[in-house]
Amino acid sequence: MPSVRIAELPWTTYHERVKNGEAVVFLPVGSLEQHGPHLPMNCDVIIPSVIAERTAEKVNGLVLPAVAYGYKSQPRSGGGNHFPGTTSVDGMTLVHVIRDIIRDLARHGVRKLVVLVGHYENTAFVIEGIDIALRELRWEGIGDFKVVRVDYWEYTRPSTFDQVWGDKFPGWATEHAGVMETSIMLAVAPGLVDMSKVPLHPPAEFPPYDLYPYRPEKGWVPSSGALCSAKIATADKGELFLSDYVAGVRQSILNEFA
Ligand code: ZN
Ligand code: MN
Repeated sequence: MPSVRIAELPWTTYHERVKNGEAVVFLPVGSLEQHGPHLPMNCDVIIPSVIAERTAEKVNGLVLPAVAYGYKSQPRSGGGNHFPGTTSVDGMTLVHVIRDIIRDLARHGVRKLVVLVGHYENTAFVIEGIDIALRELRWEGIGDFKVVRVDYWEYTRPSTFDQVWGDKFPGWATEHAGVMETSIMLAVAPGLVDMSKVPLHPPAEFPPYDLYPYRPEKGWVPSSGALCSAKIATADKGELFLSDYVAGVRQSILNEFA
């Protein structure tokens, strides 16, 4: 079976697949960001890419290389941009990257795009990139380009929350480098995870505002970079999360692109 990864195909194969506009194309949008001492810095790339690839196999779709850099990490959702390693782009840059990719996809014939956000802070800028791209395409007379945009974690089923956290779910922002991300990484890239280094501190607590510039000496962000402990993470839980996300994204595609 040919790869679902667009970058691994000859252009001729890709062109045959997309030129009539029927193929669903996936774009993961991640970040290079610290994820605590136990995870690699490309979690936000790997996780949406795996969801995209598994879903693409079910819907005969194709997956673009992920956008590997994201908007600036924020203390309350990613630990902040002061950590070494976290390497971010300005919001306007991300907006333009998304806009430019969509413009070229449309030129190839693509009309059905799923944008999978893998990094919490990207969402607004990804939306803006989509909006500007669709506006420009309309000016060029292309009015049938459709996008489904996904924050994949929103597909977590109630039964999964119960099974994984009981009544102790800390919220998605605080889950940075937490149980969900660590479990999925254990399922798909166990060689990149070191469970002996999982921080054991309680979930981070923040005041209900942001502070610029953030001052690390405030101590709001744990020095580990993780915002909660992933000690209960397992590969089985990772597969449970992935099954929610793949089923959820697939259903959204059937709903919107049928
Ligand atoms: Zn992450
Ligand atoms: Mn992130």
